[in-house]
Amino acid sequence: MIQEERVQTLNDEEVSGAGTYVLYWMQHAQRASVNHALEFAIREANRRGLPLLAVFGITQRFPEANTRSYAFMLEGLREARQALRERGVQLVVRLQPPGEAVADLAADAALVVVDRGYLRVERRWRKRVARRLSCPLVQVETDVVVPVETASQKEEYAAYTIRPKIHKHLDAFLVPLEETALRRDSLGLTFDGLGLDDIEARLGRMRINRSAERVDTFLGGSSQACMLLDDFIVHKLDSYAEERNDPVQDCLSHMSPYLHFGQISALEVALKVRGARGVGQENKDAYLEELVVRRELSMNLCVFNPHYDSLACVPDWARETLEEHAGDRREHVYDLEQFESARTHDPYWNAAQREMVLTGKMHGYMRMYWGKKILEWTPSPERGFAIALELNNRYELDGRDPNGFTGVAWCFGKHDRAWAERQVYGKVRYMSAGGLERKFDIDAYVQKVERLRSSQSQKGGV
Ligand code: FAD
Repeated sequence: MIQEERVQTLNDEEVSGAGTYVLYWMQHAQRASVNHALEFAIREANRRGLPLLAVFGITQRFPEANTRSYAFMLEGLREARQALRERGVQLVVRLQPPGEAVADLAADAALVVVDRGYLRVERRWRKRVARRLSCPLVQVETDVVVPVETASQKEEYAAYTIRPKIHKHLDAFLVPLEETALRRDSLGLTFDGLGLDDIEARLGRMRINRSAERVDTFLGGSSQACMLLDDFIVHKLDSYAEERNDPVQDCLSHMSPYLHFGQISALEVALKVRGARGVGQENKDAYLEELVVRRELSMNLCVFNPHYDSLACVPDWARETLEEHAGDRREHVYDLEQFESARTHDPYWNAAQREMVLTGKMHGYMRMYWGKKILEWTPSPERGFAIALELNNRYELDGRDPNGFTGVAWCFGKHDRAWAERQVYGKVRYMSAGGLERKFDIDAYVQKVERLRSSQSQKGGV
Protein backbone atom coordinates (compact mmCIF):
# COMPACT_ATOMS: atom_id res chain seq x y z
CA MET A 1 0.00 0.00 0.00
CA ILE A 2 1.26 3.48 -0.87
CA GLN A 3 -0.30 5.78 1.68
CA GLU A 4 -1.18 9.21 0.29
CA GLU A 5 0.83 10.89 3.06
CA ARG A 6 3.98 9.58 1.36
CA VAL A 7 3.19 11.36 -1.89
CA GLN A 8 3.79 15.02 -2.67
CA THR A 9 3.83 16.88 -5.99
CA LEU A 10 6.83 19.23 -6.03
CA ASN A 11 5.89 21.50 -8.96
CA ASP A 12 2.80 22.85 -10.69
CA GLU A 13 3.32 21.33 -14.12
CA GLU A 14 0.24 19.87 -15.74
CA VAL A 15 0.04 16.29 -16.92
CA SER A 16 0.20 16.89 -20.68
CA GLY A 17 -0.09 13.45 -22.21
CA ALA A 18 3.27 14.01 -23.92
CA GLY A 19 6.33 11.94 -23.06
CA THR A 20 7.45 8.50 -24.06
CA TYR A 21 8.22 7.05 -20.62
CA VAL A 22 7.82 7.64 -16.90
CA LEU A 23 11.15 8.45 -15.23
CA TYR A 24 12.08 7.28 -11.75
CA TRP A 25 14.80 9.50 -10.34
CA MET A 26 16.51 7.20 -7.89
CA GLN A 27 18.50 9.10 -5.29
CA HIS A 28 18.00 8.18 -1.64
CA ALA A 29 16.32 4.79 -2.03
CA GLN A 30 18.95 2.86 -3.96
CA ARG A 31 17.08 -0.44 -4.23
CA ALA A 32 14.62 -2.36 -6.36
CA SER A 33 12.39 -3.75 -3.63
CA VAL A 34 10.21 -2.37 -0.83
CA ASN A 35 10.51 1.02 -2.46
CA HIS A 36 7.30 3.06 -2.47
CA ALA A 37 8.71 5.55 -4.99
CA LEU A 38 9.55 2.79 -7.46
CA GLU A 39 6.17 1.08 -7.00
CA PHE A 40 4.38 4.40 -7.46
CA ALA A 41 6.35 5.01 -10.67
CA ILE A 42 5.52 1.51 -11.97
CA ARG A 43 1.83 2.02 -11.31
CA GLU A 44 1.91 5.41 -13.05
CA ALA A 45 3.74 3.92 -16.05
CA ASN A 46 1.18 1.11 -16.28
CA ARG A 47 -1.71 3.57 -16.00
CA ARG A 48 -0.32 5.53 -18.93
CA GLY A 49 0.72 2.48 -20.93
CA LEU A 50 4.34 3.69 -20.89
CA PRO A 51 7.65 2.04 -20.04
CA LEU A 52 9.47 3.01 -16.85
CA LEU A 53 13.05 4.25 -17.04
CA ALA A 54 15.23 4.98 -13.99
CA VAL A 55 18.13 7.40 -13.64
CA PHE A 56 20.83 7.91 -11.02
CA GLY A 57 23.13 10.92 -11.29
CA ILE A 58 26.42 10.64 -9.41
CA THR A 59 27.85 13.94 -8.29
CA GLN A 60 31.57 13.65 -7.64
CA ARG A 61 31.29 16.39 -5.03
CA PHE A 62 28.69 15.17 -2.59
CA PRO A 63 29.57 17.03 0.64
CA GLU A 64 32.07 14.96 2.67
CA ALA A 65 31.71 11.81 0.54
CA ASN A 66 35.00 10.03 -0.30
CA THR A 67 36.38 6.84 -1.84
CA ARG A 68 35.02 4.77 1.06
CA SER A 69 31.44 5.96 0.66
CA TYR A 70 31.48 6.04 -3.15
CA ALA A 71 32.73 2.44 -3.28
CA PHE A 72 29.92 1.25 -1.02
CA MET A 73 27.37 3.18 -3.05
CA LEU A 74 28.63 1.87 -6.41
CA GLU A 75 28.55 -1.71 -5.12
CA GLY A 76 24.92 -1.14 -4.20
CA LEU A 77 24.04 0.57 -7.47
CA ARG A 78 25.52 -2.25 -9.51
CA GLU A 79 23.20 -4.65 -7.75
CA ALA A 80 20.19 -2.31 -7.91
CA ARG A 81 20.70 -1.96 -11.65
CA GLN A 82 20.57 -5.74 -12.09
CA ALA A 83 17.54 -6.10 -9.82
CA LEU A 84 15.70 -3.34 -11.68
CA ARG A 85 16.55 -4.97 -14.99
CA GLU A 86 14.86 -8.14 -13.72
CA ARG A 87 11.73 -6.02 -13.20
CA GLY A 88 11.93 -4.55 -16.71
CA VAL A 89 13.35 -1.19 -15.65
CA GLN A 90 16.54 0.14 -17.21
CA LEU A 91 18.64 2.13 -14.73
CA VAL A 92 20.82 4.72 -16.44
CA VAL A 93 23.70 5.74 -14.17
CA ARG A 94 25.47 8.92 -15.14
CA LEU A 95 28.50 10.71 -13.79
CA GLN A 96 26.63 13.99 -13.61
CA PRO A 97 25.08 16.00 -10.78
CA PRO A 98 21.63 14.46 -10.21
CA GLY A 99 19.75 17.55 -11.34
CA GLU A 100 21.49 17.54 -14.72
CA ALA A 101 21.10 13.82 -15.31
CA VAL A 102 17.40 14.03 -14.48
CA ALA A 103 16.77 17.16 -16.55
CA ASP A 104 18.41 15.51 -19.59
CA LEU A 105 16.25 12.39 -19.42
CA ALA A 106 13.13 14.21 -18.30
CA ALA A 107 12.91 15.96 -21.66
CA ASP A 108 11.05 12.89 -22.96
CA ALA A 109 9.26 11.97 -19.75
CA ALA A 110 5.54 12.20 -19.05
CA LEU A 111 6.18 12.25 -15.32
CA VAL A 112 9.18 12.14 -12.99
CA VAL A 113 8.97 10.35 -9.64
CA VAL A 114 11.63 10.78 -6.96
CA ASP A 115 12.20 9.36 -3.50
CA ARG A 116 12.75 11.68 -0.51
CA GLY A 117 16.06 12.76 1.00
CA TYR A 118 16.41 14.70 4.23
CA LEU A 119 19.70 16.55 4.04
CA ARG A 120 19.93 20.13 2.83
CA VAL A 121 21.70 19.15 -0.39
CA GLU A 122 19.14 16.49 -1.25
CA ARG A 123 16.23 18.88 -0.69
CA ARG A 124 17.92 21.55 -2.77
CA TRP A 125 18.36 19.15 -5.69
CA ARG A 126 14.65 18.35 -5.70
CA LYS A 127 13.65 22.00 -5.51
CA ARG A 128 15.87 22.94 -8.43
CA VAL A 129 14.73 20.03 -10.57
CA ALA A 130 11.09 20.86 -9.78
CA ARG A 131 11.68 24.35 -11.20
CA ARG A 132 13.40 23.03 -14.35
CA LEU A 133 10.97 20.34 -15.44
CA SER A 134 8.09 20.82 -17.81
CA CYS A 135 6.32 17.70 -16.55
CA PRO A 136 5.12 16.92 -13.01
CA LEU A 137 7.68 15.91 -10.36
CA VAL A 138 6.22 13.70 -7.66
CA GLN A 139 8.12 12.83 -4.49
CA VAL A 140 7.30 9.59 -2.69
CA GLU A 141 8.68 9.18 0.83
CA THR A 142 9.91 5.63 1.29
CA ASP A 143 12.87 5.61 3.67
CA VAL A 144 10.92 6.04 6.89
CA VAL A 145 8.17 3.98 8.43
CA VAL A 146 6.00 6.98 9.33
CA PRO A 147 6.31 10.00 6.97
CA VAL A 148 8.07 12.88 8.72
CA GLU A 149 5.23 15.42 8.63
CA THR A 150 2.64 12.77 9.51
CA ALA A 151 4.52 12.05 12.71
CA SER A 152 4.90 15.73 13.54
CA GLN A 153 4.61 19.17 11.96
CA LYS A 154 7.37 20.70 14.08
CA GLU A 155 10.79 20.05 15.53
CA GLU A 156 10.47 17.58 18.36
CA TYR A 157 12.20 18.12 21.66
CA ALA A 158 13.27 14.55 22.36
CA ALA A 159 12.45 10.89 21.86
CA TYR A 160 9.76 11.02 24.54
CA THR A 161 7.86 13.72 22.64
CA ILE A 162 7.95 12.07 19.22
CA ARG A 163 7.47 8.46 20.41
CA PRO A 164 3.69 8.62 21.02
CA LYS A 165 3.23 10.53 17.75
CA ILE A 166 5.02 7.79 15.81
CA HIS A 167 3.37 4.93 17.67
CA LYS A 168 -0.06 6.37 16.94
CA HIS A 169 0.56 5.83 13.21
CA LEU A 170 2.31 2.47 13.24
CA ASP A 171 -0.80 0.45 12.42
CA ALA A 172 -1.34 2.54 9.30
CA PHE A 173 2.26 2.62 8.07
CA LEU A 174 3.98 -0.52 9.33
CA VAL A 175 2.32 -2.59 6.63
CA PRO A 176 3.78 -4.51 3.68
CA LEU A 177 4.16 -2.88 0.29
CA GLU A 178 2.97 -5.09 -2.53
CA GLU A 179 4.93 -5.14 -5.79
CA THR A 180 3.29 -4.39 -9.13
CA ALA A 181 4.55 -5.97 -12.36
CA LEU A 182 5.63 -3.44 -14.98
CA ARG A 183 3.69 -3.91 -18.20
CA ARG A 184 6.07 -2.20 -20.66
CA ASP A 185 9.79 -2.59 -20.05
CA SER A 186 12.42 0.02 -20.94
CA LEU A 187 15.24 -2.45 -21.54
CA GLY A 188 15.33 -1.85 -25.30
CA LEU A 189 15.66 1.96 -25.03
CA THR A 190 19.12 3.25 -25.82
CA PHE A 191 20.89 5.66 -23.46
CA ASP A 192 24.49 6.42 -22.57
CA GLY A 193 25.35 5.35 -19.06
CA LEU A 194 28.20 4.41 -16.80
CA GLY A 195 29.57 0.87 -16.62
CA LEU A 196 29.82 -0.46 -13.06
CA ASP A 197 31.41 -3.87 -13.67
CA ASP A 198 34.84 -2.84 -12.44
CA ILE A 199 34.27 -0.62 -9.44
CA GLU A 200 37.95 -0.25 -8.57
CA ALA A 201 38.70 1.05 -12.05
CA ARG A 202 35.64 3.32 -11.97
CA LEU A 203 36.70 4.79 -8.61
CA GLY A 204 40.19 5.34 -9.95
CA ARG A 205 38.83 7.45 -12.81
CA MET A 206 36.50 9.55 -10.67
CA ARG A 207 37.50 12.98 -9.36
CA ILE A 208 36.45 12.40 -5.78
CA ASN A 209 37.71 13.18 -2.30
CA ARG A 210 40.16 10.40 -1.30
CA SER A 211 40.40 11.11 2.43
CA ALA A 212 39.22 7.62 3.48
CA GLU A 213 39.98 4.44 1.63
CA ARG A 214 37.67 1.62 0.67
CA VAL A 215 37.02 -1.03 3.34
CA ASP A 216 36.09 -4.65 2.85
CA THR A 217 34.40 -5.20 6.22
CA PHE A 218 31.00 -4.31 4.79
CA LEU A 219 30.17 -4.68 1.12
CA GLY A 220 27.48 -2.52 -0.38
CA GLY A 221 24.27 -3.91 -1.84
CA SER A 222 20.76 -5.02 -0.93
CA SER A 223 21.68 -8.72 -0.87
CA GLN A 224 24.41 -8.04 1.72
CA ALA A 225 21.90 -6.05 3.78
CA CYS A 226 19.38 -8.91 3.67
CA MET A 227 22.02 -11.47 4.63
CA LEU A 228 23.14 -9.42 7.62
CA LEU A 229 19.54 -8.81 8.65
CA ASP A 230 18.63 -12.48 8.50
CA ASP A 231 21.73 -13.38 10.50
CA PHE A 232 20.87 -10.71 13.07
CA ILE A 233 17.31 -11.95 13.47
CA VAL A 234 18.35 -15.59 13.86
CA HIS A 235 21.41 -15.15 16.07
CA LYS A 236 21.33 -11.79 17.83
CA LEU A 237 17.90 -10.19 18.06
CA ASP A 238 16.89 -12.27 21.07
CA SER A 239 19.73 -10.74 23.11
CA TYR A 240 19.45 -7.23 21.68
CA ALA A 241 17.85 -5.50 24.69
CA GLU A 242 20.56 -6.76 27.01
CA GLU A 243 23.68 -6.86 24.87
CA ARG A 244 23.39 -4.18 22.21
CA ASN A 245 25.36 -1.67 24.29
CA ASP A 246 28.29 -3.96 24.99
CA PRO A 247 31.10 -3.09 22.56
CA VAL A 248 32.78 -6.44 23.13
CA GLN A 249 29.75 -8.30 21.81
CA ASP A 250 28.63 -8.01 18.23
CA CYS A 251 24.93 -7.85 19.00
CA LEU A 252 24.04 -5.21 16.42
CA SER A 253 22.25 -5.49 13.09
CA HIS A 254 24.77 -3.43 11.06
CA MET A 255 21.87 -2.05 9.07
CA SER A 256 23.00 1.59 9.29
CA PRO A 257 25.24 1.75 6.17
CA TYR A 258 22.53 0.01 4.14
CA LEU A 259 19.79 2.26 5.49
CA HIS A 260 21.93 5.28 4.80
CA PHE A 261 22.29 4.40 1.12
CA GLY A 262 18.70 3.17 0.88
CA GLN A 263 19.95 -0.30 -0.02
CA ILE A 264 17.39 -1.71 2.39
CA SER A 265 14.10 -0.23 3.47
CA ALA A 266 13.43 0.64 7.09
CA LEU A 267 9.93 -0.74 6.56
CA GLU A 268 11.28 -4.13 5.48
CA VAL A 269 13.65 -4.26 8.46
CA ALA A 270 10.88 -3.29 10.88
CA LEU A 271 8.41 -5.82 9.48
CA LYS A 272 10.94 -8.65 9.61
CA VAL A 273 11.92 -7.82 13.18
CA ARG A 274 8.32 -7.51 14.29
CA GLY A 275 7.48 -10.84 12.69
CA ALA A 276 10.51 -12.74 14.02
CA ARG A 277 9.54 -16.03 15.66
CA GLY A 278 10.75 -17.14 19.06
CA VAL A 279 12.12 -13.71 19.99
CA GLY A 280 11.19 -11.97 23.24
CA GLN A 281 8.95 -8.92 22.79
CA GLU A 282 11.35 -6.75 24.84
CA ASN A 283 14.04 -7.36 22.21
CA LYS A 284 11.77 -6.49 19.31
CA ASP A 285 10.59 -3.37 21.13
CA ALA A 286 14.16 -2.28 21.90
CA TYR A 287 15.15 -2.67 18.27
CA LEU A 288 12.09 -0.89 16.87
CA GLU A 289 12.69 1.96 19.31
CA GLU A 290 16.10 2.54 17.68
CA LEU A 291 15.08 1.86 14.09
CA VAL A 292 11.84 3.78 14.09
CA VAL A 293 11.65 6.26 16.98
CA ARG A 294 15.32 7.31 17.26
CA ARG A 295 16.02 7.17 13.56
CA GLU A 296 12.91 9.12 12.61
CA LEU A 297 13.65 11.69 15.33
CA SER A 298 16.84 12.35 13.33
CA MET A 299 14.88 13.01 10.16
CA ASN A 300 12.63 15.31 12.16
CA LEU A 301 15.69 17.31 13.23
CA CYS A 302 17.05 17.63 9.69
CA VAL A 303 13.70 18.65 8.22
CA PHE A 304 12.71 21.18 10.85
CA ASN A 305 16.00 22.62 12.09
CA PRO A 306 18.14 24.39 9.46
CA HIS A 307 21.12 24.27 11.86
CA TYR A 308 21.19 20.47 12.21
CA ASP A 309 24.91 20.36 11.39
CA SER A 310 26.19 22.87 13.96
CA LEU A 311 26.10 23.57 17.67
CA ALA A 312 23.30 26.06 16.95
CA CYS A 313 20.85 23.13 16.85
CA VAL A 314 21.15 22.22 20.54
CA PRO A 315 18.56 23.61 22.97
CA ASP A 316 19.16 26.92 24.76
CA TRP A 317 19.94 25.30 28.11
CA ALA A 318 22.72 23.23 26.52
CA ARG A 319 24.23 26.10 24.53
CA GLU A 320 24.16 28.39 27.57
CA THR A 321 25.74 25.89 29.91
CA LEU A 322 28.43 24.97 27.38
CA GLU A 323 29.18 28.68 26.87
CA GLU A 324 29.41 29.25 30.62
CA HIS A 325 31.98 26.47 30.83
CA ALA A 326 33.84 27.29 27.62
CA GLY A 327 36.66 28.85 29.63
CA ASP A 328 37.10 25.87 32.01
CA ARG A 329 40.56 24.34 32.06
CA ARG A 330 40.71 21.15 29.96
CA GLU A 331 42.95 18.41 31.31
CA HIS A 332 43.70 17.28 27.76
CA VAL A 333 43.39 19.20 24.52
CA TYR A 334 43.84 17.61 21.09
CA ASP A 335 43.61 18.89 17.57
CA LEU A 336 41.93 17.23 14.59
CA GLU A 337 45.09 15.47 13.49
CA GLN A 338 45.73 13.96 16.94
CA PHE A 339 42.17 12.70 17.16
CA GLU A 340 42.23 11.37 13.62
CA SER A 341 45.40 9.37 14.19
CA ALA A 342 44.09 8.05 17.54
CA ARG A 343 46.85 9.67 19.57
CA THR A 344 45.01 10.59 22.76
CA HIS A 345 46.00 9.41 26.26
CA ASP A 346 42.87 7.20 26.41
CA PRO A 347 43.19 3.62 25.09
CA TYR A 348 39.39 3.18 24.94
CA TRP A 349 38.87 6.30 22.86
CA ASN A 350 41.78 5.38 20.59
CA ALA A 351 40.33 1.91 20.08
CA ALA A 352 36.97 3.38 19.09
CA GLN A 353 38.59 5.76 16.62
CA ARG A 354 40.64 2.91 15.13
CA GLU A 355 37.59 0.68 14.85
CA MET A 356 35.89 3.38 12.80
CA VAL A 357 38.90 4.01 10.56
CA LEU A 358 39.62 0.32 10.01
CA THR A 359 36.11 -1.04 9.57
CA GLY A 360 33.96 1.95 8.57
CA LYS A 361 31.71 1.34 11.57
CA MET A 362 32.28 2.12 15.23
CA HIS A 363 30.19 0.29 17.82
CA GLY A 364 27.09 2.33 18.72
CA TYR A 365 27.82 2.63 22.44
CA MET A 366 31.40 3.72 21.80
CA ARG A 367 30.13 6.46 19.48
CA MET A 368 28.55 8.16 22.49
CA TYR A 369 31.74 7.95 24.54
CA TRP A 370 33.82 9.01 21.54
CA GLY A 371 31.71 12.13 20.91
CA LYS A 372 31.53 13.10 24.59
CA LYS A 373 35.31 12.97 24.91
CA ILE A 374 35.78 15.15 21.85
CA LEU A 375 33.60 17.72 23.61
CA GLU A 376 35.79 17.36 26.71
CA TRP A 377 39.18 17.53 24.95
CA THR A 378 38.72 20.42 22.50
CA PRO A 379 39.24 24.12 23.25
CA SER A 380 35.59 25.05 22.57
CA PRO A 381 32.28 23.22 22.08
CA GLU A 382 31.98 24.67 18.56
CA ARG A 383 35.36 23.21 17.63
CA GLY A 384 34.52 19.89 19.27
CA PHE A 385 31.25 19.66 17.36
CA ALA A 386 33.00 20.37 14.05
CA ILE A 387 35.76 17.80 14.69
CA ALA A 388 33.31 15.09 15.72
CA LEU A 389 31.20 15.63 12.61
CA GLU A 390 34.19 15.77 10.31
CA LEU A 391 35.63 12.48 11.55
CA ASN A 392 32.24 10.78 11.73
CA ASN A 393 31.38 11.78 8.19
CA ARG A 394 34.78 10.92 6.79
CA TYR A 395 35.14 7.41 8.19
CA GLU A 396 31.72 5.97 9.05
CA LEU A 397 30.08 4.12 6.17
CA ASP A 398 26.79 5.37 7.59
CA GLY A 399 28.15 8.93 7.98
CA ARG A 400 26.59 12.04 6.42
CA ASP A 401 23.24 10.74 7.59
CA PRO A 402 20.54 12.47 9.67
CA ASN A 403 21.48 9.96 12.40
CA GLY A 404 25.09 11.15 12.32
CA PHE A 405 24.22 14.82 12.65
CA THR A 406 21.80 13.97 15.43
CA GLY A 407 24.21 11.59 17.17
CA VAL A 408 26.91 14.25 17.32
CA ALA A 409 24.39 16.86 18.46
CA TRP A 410 23.20 14.45 21.20
CA CYS A 411 26.72 14.45 22.63
CA PHE A 412 26.32 18.22 23.04
CA GLY A 413 22.90 18.05 24.72
CA LYS A 414 20.41 17.65 21.85
CA HIS A 415 17.36 15.49 22.62
CA ASP A 416 18.60 15.11 26.20
CA ARG A 417 17.94 16.78 29.55
CA ALA A 418 20.15 18.71 31.95
CA TRP A 419 22.28 16.70 34.38
CA ALA A 420 24.37 17.64 37.43
CA GLU A 421 26.73 20.49 36.57
CA ARG A 422 30.46 19.81 36.18
CA GLN A 423 33.61 21.20 34.56
CA VAL A 424 33.66 21.68 30.78
CA TYR A 425 30.35 19.83 30.19
CA GLY A 426 28.28 22.17 32.34
CA LYS A 427 24.88 20.47 32.60
CA VAL A 428 25.37 18.35 29.49
CA ARG A 429 25.49 14.61 30.20
CA TYR A 430 28.98 13.31 30.97
CA MET A 431 30.50 9.91 30.23
CA SER A 432 33.63 8.49 31.82
CA ALA A 433 36.23 5.82 31.22
CA GLY A 434 35.31 4.48 34.68
CA GLY A 435 31.76 3.91 33.41
CA LEU A 436 33.07 1.80 30.54
CA GLU A 437 35.23 -0.20 32.96
CA ARG A 438 32.32 -0.84 35.29
CA LYS A 439 29.87 -1.86 32.60
CA PHE A 440 31.98 -3.88 30.17
CA ASP A 441 35.16 -5.84 29.79
CA ILE A 442 36.49 -2.80 28.00
CA ASP A 443 40.05 -4.12 27.77
CA ALA A 444 38.65 -6.96 25.67
CA TYR A 445 37.27 -4.32 23.29
CA VAL A 446 40.69 -2.69 23.04
CA GLN A 447 42.26 -6.07 22.32
CA LYS A 448 39.62 -6.86 19.74
CA VAL A 449 40.44 -3.66 17.87
CA GLU A 450 44.19 -4.33 18.26
CA ARG A 451 43.73 -7.73 16.61
CA LEU A 452 41.87 -6.08 13.78
CA ARG A 453 44.61 -3.55 13.46
CA SER A 454 47.39 -6.08 13.27
CA SER A 455 45.49 -8.19 10.75
CA GLN A 456 45.06 -5.11 8.57
CA SER A 457 48.47 -3.54 9.21
CA GLN A 458 49.74 -4.46 5.76
CA LYS A 459 46.96 -2.32 4.32
CA GLY A 460 48.36 0.75 6.10
CA GLY A 461 45.70 1.14 8.81
CA VAL A 462 46.22 3.34 11.87
P1 FAD B 1 21.52 -1.26 15.59
O1 FAD B 1 21.67 -1.15 17.08
O2 FAD B 1 21.43 -2.60 15.03
O3 FAD B 1 20.26 -0.36 15.26
C1 FAD B 1 19.41 -0.56 14.13
C2 FAD B 1 19.12 0.76 13.50
O4 FAD B 1 18.47 1.63 14.42
C3 FAD B 1 20.36 1.51 13.06
O5 FAD B 1 20.82 1.08 11.81
C4 FAD B 1 19.86 2.93 13.03
O6 FAD B 1 19.16 3.22 11.86
C5 FAD B 1 18.90 2.96 14.19
N1 FAD B 1 19.59 3.46 15.38
C6 FAD B 1 20.33 2.78 16.28
N2 FAD B 1 20.81 3.60 17.22
C7 FAD B 1 20.38 4.84 16.90
C8 FAD B 1 20.54 6.12 17.48
N3 FAD B 1 21.22 6.31 18.60
N4 FAD B 1 19.96 7.17 16.88
C9 FAD B 1 19.24 7.02 15.75
N5 FAD B 1 19.05 5.82 15.15
C10 FAD B 1 19.61 4.75 15.73
N6 FAD B 1 23.99 6.50 12.97
C11 FAD B 1 24.08 6.52 11.63
O7 FAD B 1 23.28 5.86 10.95
N7 FAD B 1 25.01 7.29 11.00
C12 FAD B 1 25.92 8.03 11.69
O8 FAD B 1 26.76 8.73 11.10
C13 FAD B 1 25.86 8.01 13.10
N8 FAD B 1 26.75 8.70 13.84
C14 FAD B 1 26.63 8.74 15.20
C15 FAD B 1 27.51 9.54 15.93
C16 FAD B 1 27.42 9.62 17.30
C17 FAD B 1 28.38 10.51 18.06
C18 FAD B 1 26.42 8.89 17.96
C19 FAD B 1 26.28 8.98 19.46
C20 FAD B 1 25.53 8.08 17.25
C21 FAD B 1 25.63 8.01 15.86
N9 FAD B 1 24.75 7.19 15.09
C22 FAD B 1 24.84 7.22 13.73
C23 FAD B 1 23.64 6.44 15.73
C24 FAD B 1 23.97 4.97 16.08
O9 FAD B 1 25.15 4.90 16.82
C25 FAD B 1 24.08 4.10 14.82
O10 FAD B 1 22.90 4.25 14.06
C26 FAD B 1 24.25 2.62 15.12
O11 FAD B 1 25.41 2.43 15.89
C27 FAD B 1 24.32 1.88 13.81
O12 FAD B 1 24.67 0.54 13.96
P2 FAD B 1 23.64 -0.66 13.71
O13 FAD B 1 22.86 -0.42 12.48
O14 FAD B 1 24.43 -1.91 13.82
O15 FAD B 1 22.72 -0.42 14.97
